[in-house]
Amino acid sequence: MLEPIVVPTAIVWPNNCGQCQSQTGPFVDTHHENRFGDRLYLCASCVRIDALKLGYLEGDEHTKLLHAAEQEGESARALVQMTERRDKLAAELRQAKKTISTLSTELDWHQERVVQLERAITEDARSRLAIVGDDAA
Ligand SMILES: [Zn+2]
Repeated sequence: MLEPIVVPTAIVWPNNCGQCQSQTGPFVDTHHENRFGDRLYLCASCVRIDALKLGYLEGDEHTKLLHAAEQEGESARALVQMTERRDKLAAELRQAKKTISTLSTELDWHQERVVQLERAITEDARSRLAIVGDDAA
C-alpha cells in the first residue's frame, strides 16, 4: 500500500477533495480508490478541520497553520506564474535572436550590394569622363 503524499493538484478523477469537493490544492493523495476508480483526495482545509475535531490541533495553532498554508499557496501560485513568465520571455528571447540573425544576414547582403553599386557608378563615371575628356569637369 502506498503512503499518502501531498500533491499540488488532484490529477486523477474526480479531481477534488472527497470531503468537501474543493478543487483547490494542495491535497493529500490517499492513493485509495473506490470500486469505480474514484481517487480519494483530502484538501488541506479538510485535513486541518479534521485534525482540529480530533483534538490534534489547538484553535490558535489551527489558525496559524491555516494562515501559513494560505501564504504557502500564494507563494506556490506566484512561483508558477513567474516560471510561466520566465519560459515565455525565454521563448521571446530565442525568437528575437533569430530575427536579429536574419536581419544581420540581410544587412551584410545590402552593404555588399551598396559597395558593388558604388564601384559600378564610379567605373561608369570614369568611362563617361574618358569620352568627353577631363576638360568638361
Ligand atoms: Zn476538502
